[in-house]
Amino acid sequence: MSNKKVYVTDYEYASLQEEETELAKYGIGLVPKQCRTEDEVIRECSEAAGLLDQYAPITRRVMENLPNLKVVARYGVGVNTIDLDAATDHGVCVLNVPDYCMDEVSNQAIALMMACQRKLAVLNDQVQQGGWDYKIAKPIYRMTGQTLGLLGFGRIPRMVAEKAKAFGLKLAVYDPYLKPEEVAQHGAKLLSLEEVLKTADIISVHVPLTKETENLISSKEFALMKKNAILINTSRGPLVDENALYEAITAKQIAGAGIDVTVQEPLEAGSRLRGLPNVIITPHVAWYSEESELELKRKAAHGAAEVISGYDVPNIVNRAVREKLQLKKR
Ligand code: NAD
Repeated sequence: MSNKKVYVTDYEYASLQEEETELAKYGIGLVPKQCRTEDEVIRECSEAAGLLDQYAPITRRVMENLPNLKVVARYGVGVNTIDLDAATDHGVCVLNVPDYCMDEVSNQAIALMMACQRKLAVLNDQVQQGGWDYKIAKPIYRMTGQTLGLLGFGRIPRMVAEKAKAFGLKLAVYDPYLKPEEVAQHGAKLLSLEEVLKTADIISVHVPLTKETENLISSKEFALMKKNAILINTSRGPLVDENALYEAITAKQIAGAGIDVTVQEPLEAGSRLRGLPNVIITPHVAWYSEESELELKRKAAHGAAEVISGYDVPNIVNRAVREKLQLKKR
């Protein structure tokens, strides 16, 4: 075993066996920590060659104080806990795991669509409380022939699109970075945001969260939607303005929403979104299955071990760092 060590800055998992096994193949040891602040990371992880990070902030000051650091692998797709510019400046590779839960998230989006469209939550609540009346769900419209609008057309919504075809949904896409031909290959039509919002019966958000995409869906966008529209968000909470969502739902501007992500997580106890019968909320669970959790842990550890051993990996997020390093190709 080499003296190189990967530190887990913080974690919610019951075991780190998967990571330990993967790192052991490279002779690298694993040191678990539970840091919440940058000071704790600096104090607890000072000898790390690599970090596996869940929520702890990996700031410029952290990079400055971890002299042996070569790689930070984030458990997940988003890397908003890590200062990417600082990492590049310090020659530290930042890795994510972009492809561990596409099946799970696309299923969650479909599940939320179906549950909202068939009004499962209100119907189940009623029966659990002793009732038996389908009419409280009126109106429900036939799904076949409706239009599903996908905002963002990356890996996950492409899987949603394939699955949605089985329900007879037509597909409209807004993604300013794609060409119409690329989208047409998937049986979908590329439109402007405004066109998608005006024509879709179900709108599913799959856009990455950036400064530009924050509040992508706010009052102006809700005003364009159909009255029977359902909004699904399995991407990131701040893409949707929650006050505007509340207003749109209570003013019956749209028919319902299914969201797996909220602006603040956990959702505040007093959030006005709690208690709305036609809003279904799940606690950022879309990524999860037993298999995806193991895949995430294994892939994060594998990437970190590869970089520490001097190898390039495809999922380096701060690509500019490659110019500073001489990583070998496998
Ligand atoms: P991806 O990286 O494969 O694709 C992102 C797509 O968004 C690209 O096609 C890009 O062109 C497009 N895009 C970028 N900016 C845009 C904009 N302003 N407007 C419209 N489109 C834009 O992403 P993915 O793998 O499909 O994942 C989508 C999102 O799902 C991720 O950003 C992540 O936040 C979220 N996610 C959530 C969970 C969960 O548990 N809820 C799990 C995994 C991923």
